[in-house]
Amino acid sequence: PVRLRYAPSPTGFQHIGGFRTALFSWLYARHCGGQFILRIEDTDLARTVEGAVDDLIKGMEWLGMDIDEGPIIGGPYGPYYQVQRKALYQHYANQLIESGHAYRCYCTPERLDQMRKEQEARKQPPRYDRHCRYLTAEERAANDAAGTPWTVRFAMPLEGETVVHDELHGDMVFKNTDLDDMVILKSNGLPPYHLAHLVDDHLMGITHVMRGEEWISSAPRHVQLYKALGWEPPLFYHVPNILGKDKKKLSKRRNAPSWSDFYRQGYLPEAVFNFMALLGWSYDDKTEIFTREELIRAFTLDRVGVSAGIYDPEKLLWMNGVYIRQLPLEELVQRALPYMERPEAEGGLPDSVQRPLNLEYTTRVLSLEHTRLKTLGEAAHIVSFFYEAEISYETSMLIQKGMDAARTKDALQHARKLLAGLDSWERTVIESPLRELAATLGLKTGQLFGSVRSAVSGRAATPPLHEMLEVLGRDVSLKRIDQAIA
Ligand code: GLU
Repeated sequence: PVRLRYAPSPTGFQHIGGFRTALFSWLYARHCGGQFILRIEDTDLARTVEGAVDDLIKGMEWLGMDIDEGPIIGGPYGPYYQVQRKALYQHYANQLIESGHAYRCYCTPERLDQMRKEQEARKQPPRYDRHCRYLTAEERAANDAAGTPWTVRFAMPLEGETVVHDELHGDMVFKNTDLDDMVILKSNGLPPYHLAHLVDDHLMGITHVMRGEEWISSAPRHVQLYKALGWEPPLFYHVPNILGKDKKKLSKRRNAPSWSDFYRQGYLPEAVFNFMALLGWSYDDKTEIFTREELIRAFTLDRVGVSAGIYDPEKLLWMNGVYIRQLPLEELVQRALPYMERPEAEGGLPDSVQRPLNLEYTTRVLSLEHTRLKTLGEAAHIVSFFYEAEISYETSMLIQKGMDAARTKDALQHARKLLAGLDSWERTVIESPLRELAATLGLKTGQLFGSVRSAVSGRAATPPLHEMLEVLGRDVSLKRIDQAIA
């Protein structure tokens, strides 16, 4: 069976790049009817960040990447936290020592430091000088008897070449003289990534490894480890990193967004999901909108590119708008309400507006903005004047181009009278008399409408005036015009 995993290190909060790589694995596992596994690579204790795993799992849930095996749910190959698999790694490290593929290294951190400094001074790449590889049996025994702390290092072949076969990049050839005797077990008994991920990928039956291309340079060492252990490597896919529009690699330091940023801003997870799938994969270089099911059906690995996906926030915004427009109005309301009702400081409506919001009224309000809305988060700002008891704006806003204060006041007075006298308050009834009024007053429609619009909303841009007036209601509309005239 096809089995893919996402194996993040909880050394920080995952940004969109990590989730994209996870998504590719998830999509392919689903495409094949295989399994998707989450494994936490937490052997670097000093760099483990509290809350990172929780955030990650929440993000995957939000995006709808369901997990077949992993933390919390468990599974037949658990545990899925590497720190809980310590004994397994030690077992294989010992096996490698016994087969002559690894050795204990007793070098002190001070010695290694000194060595690195000298190499640096000589402009040589930092590399372990293999001092302990050549210790005699007596020297080893003496160190062990003295209780000298040790690590385990892998004994790389000293000559020849290593071929890494990558399904996207083809065969890549590395000189073994460039590979150093990496540590495979640290002095605290935990393995670094190189041994840990490899043992787990093997034991967990992983068939396809998708990971960032920054791992390509480590891959030949992994190939050697597989050989030494007598295991068949999985298929490797080193997928391109995501770049910003400036063609620089996205990173947390450079403000790469995480799922929770998207969530807070009111992006729909299905839109983010669709958007991420296109960061380094394409169906036909032109189709952009795919449902989740379509993506699962279409997601083959031959369409994963070797060139980077570009993270374009404007494209995401556009795509989110497409998804919002596709929502039935009732669903839009249900999903926008929590954003509108959150505290003002978090982007919700002014705190003076009473929560919970009226559902029926909010449905009418959002129906006016449905086609224009790009994020759920911006709704509160766009529609706040529908909810506020008092609106405030610069009175100069009322005065339209080609008019003055006196004509504006006069026009608003006429409009007020007209609106107050209408038989009913429906958009269809409101529009034409207002147009006629403009003509009677010798004004352009835009001039009259602009003044009324600003008077009732305090905004220059709003939904069509008659629709907005209908939803605001006659009482509020007249009151606001009164205030504008006063
Ligand atoms: N723990 C590694 C990381 O977070 C995973 C790389 C891999 O997928 O093998 O970068």
